[in-house]
Amino acid sequence: MLWDGCGRNTSKGRRNRENRKGCDKITGGAGILLTTVVGSYPSQPSKPRNWREKLLKILGSYDPYKHAIKIAVKDQVKAGIDIISDGQVRGDMISIFASKIPGMKVDNSTSKIISRILPPQNPIGAQDLRFSKKIIKKLGGKQEIKGIITGPSTLVYSSRIEGFYDPEDKKRAIMDMAEALKREASYLEEAGASMIQIDEPFLSTGIVNIKTAKKAVKRISDVIRVPVALHACGDIKEVFEDLLKFNVDIIDCEFAGNPNNLEIVKGAELKNKKVGFGCIDTKSQKIETIEEIKRFIKKGIKIIGEEKIIIDPDCGMRKLPRDVAFSKLKNMVEAANAIQDNSQ
Ligand SMILES: [Zn+2]
Repeated sequence: MLWDGCGRNTSKGRRNRENRKGCDKITGGAGILLTTVVGSYPSQPSKPRNWREKLLKILGSYDPYKHAIKIAVKDQVKAGIDIISDGQVRGDMISIFASKIPGMKVDNSTSKIISRILPPQNPIGAQDLRFSKKIIKKLGGKQEIKGIITGPSTLVYSSRIEGFYDPEDKKRAIMDMAEALKREASYLEEAGASMIQIDEPFLSTGIVNIKTAKKAVKRISDVIRVPVALHACGDIKEVFEDLLKFNVDIIDCEFAGNPNNLEIVKGAELKNKKVGFGCIDTKSQKIETIEEIKRFIKKGIKIIGEEKIIIDPDCGMRKLPRDVAFSKLKNMVEAANAIQDNSQ
C-alpha cells in the first residue's frame, strides 16, 4: 500500500522528506478507503472499580481518565476504524493545552495567556497515546493512532491575552504558540503517532489572519516526518483555496453537515493533498444508514478521487451519546468497506 501524499514541502528539504517514515505506514492508494476519526469520543472518567485502583487512589496515583481512554479506544477498534484517537477524554480542545503550556492558564473555564508562551517541558498527550497503543495491542488490533494538537491560531484566539503580548496584535503570540506546539507534536511523534492532526476550527470563522496561521502551521509541520492533517470546521467557502496552500498532507473538513463544501472542493486544484471527507454528521444524533453513507462517499469519491479521499466523521463526537457515536462509526466503516470491496 502506498501513501502518495508525501510531497509536502519542508524547509528541511530532502532529508526530512526521505525520513517521512509514516508515508508507507498510513496508506490510501488504489481501491483502499482509509477510515479515521477527527478526535473526541464520548467517554467518561470513572471511580476506582477494583482493589488495585482503590489502592492507587489512596496512594494518590489513580488516573480516572484511563478508563475513559480504554472505552474510546475499544469502541473505535470494534467499529473497525483504521487510524484511531485516544478519544481526547481529558477535557475540551482548548483547556487540555491551556492548562499545560507555560504562559497560559485556565481560570474559571476561561483560557488566558498571562506571560510569554513557552514550549512545554513535559509531553501533554504522549502518555495517553502510548497507553492507547498498548490497548490496541492487547485487543490484537492493527490500528494506527494519530496525535492531535489544537492549532496555534485557534488556541490564541480562544484565550484572553492578559500579559506579555499586545491583545490587538496576536501574531507574536501565535508564533510562540507554534513553537510550543511544535515541541508537543514532536513528543507525540516520538510516542508513536502515525500522523499528526492540527485542529484549527477558527480558520473558517473569518477572524483569523490566514497568513500568520499558515506560517504557524508550517513551523509545526516542518519538523514532523509522519503525515500531517489540518482539520477545519464548518463552511470552508472562504478559506479552502488558502488551506490548500498550507504545508500539510491532508485537509480535513465536514461535508455531511455542510454538503455545500463539496461544491467548493469540486472547483479546486487539490494537487498532492488528500482530503479528509467528513461523511457523518456529528451535530445530529440521527444514525445514518450504511446505504446513506455509501451514497455520500461515492459522491465524494467522484469529486475528490478514490486515491485522495480519507473517510471520517465531520468533527469530534464528544457531544453525542456513546451508543450513537459508536453506531455512526460502525456504519461509516461498513459503508467504506462495501465500496472498497466492490472496487477491487
Ligand atoms: Zn471540526
